Amino acid sequence: MLKVDLHCHSNVSDGVLTPAAVAQTAHRAGVDVWALTDHDEVGGIAAARAAAADVGMQFISGVEISITWAKETVHIVGLRIDEHHADLLAGLACTRAGRDNRGREIAAQLAAAGIPGAYEGALKYVGNPDLMSRTHFARFLVEIGACANIPDVFKKYLSEGKPGYVPHCWASLTDAVGWIRGAGGIAVIAHPGRYRFSDLAEGELFNEFKQLGGAAIEVVTGSHSPNQYGEYAQLAQRYGFLASRGSDFHAPGESRVDFAALPPLPAGVTPVWHDWF
Ligand code: AMP
Ligand code: MN
Ligand code: MN
Ligand code: MN
Repeated sequence: MLKVDLHCHSNVSDGVLTPAAVAQTAHRAGVDVWALTDHDEVGGIAAARAAAADVGMQFISGVEISITWAKETVHIVGLRIDEHHADLLAGLACTRAGRDNRGREIAAQLAAAGIPGAYEGALKYVGNPDLMSRTHFARFLVEIGACANIPDVFKKYLSEGKPGYVPHCWASLTDAVGWIRGAGGIAVIAHPGRYRFSDLAEGELFNEFKQLGGAAIEVVTGSHSPNQYGEYAQLAQRYGFLASRGSDFHAPGESRVDFAALPPLPAGVTPVWHDWF
């Protein structure tokens, strides 16, 4: 069976490996079809495509766009995008703007909570100055021993209601789906099981996404618990969405599920790649 991983990060966003190194890692893990989906940025795609070609792996251009919907941050993955499309590039640039200022505010809050020097500390981990992420702060907090691991950092800091949480207004759902579709891509709701919506609100998100031309949801992802695979497979069928699969790889040993070590999609769903080959 084809091994497909359509959600990964490089150091062009908040991963630690270069795009080429992610490609090589995916290939070694047995991946046949692979997408790079950096947050709000397509700058790694050319290198990723070249590295995938070198190892004979099918490459899919991708991106993961941060949006705000019903006051929550939601991630929309775009697959098979034309990464040169002008509206997409302008939209992503707009989405990235403000990340540096947010980083300074996160650092100020952490300083007030007794952790000085977090901006400079996080910056050491940043591969792309346009893309300072909470993940970079999390790595710094682990480095200085404030927390044992990255999930613990998010429990104690950086999340809503905790020190280091700075609300940020991202793109709209309409914008993100519009940029992706305008660039010839397929829009996918990333890790739907991770959002804290009621069933009612989740249904509204799915309906609105579908009306805008959204086509798929992630079903098997490193960000879902195993019992969510079946739950979101059923929801994909109920709403008529294609199903996607991806590790959400960020760094060796850092992800909740190791690279490509995910089960296949449950029976009954239509894979988002069903008509690609
Ligand atoms: P940002 O886009 O800067 O707000 O950072 C979001 C990133 O933080 C996500 O893409 C994940 O990589 C990471 N993240 C968020 N929540 C968690 C969590 N609970 N555990 C581990 N990583 C997380
Ligand atoms: Mn991330
Ligand atoms: Mn995400
Ligand atoms: Mn991701």
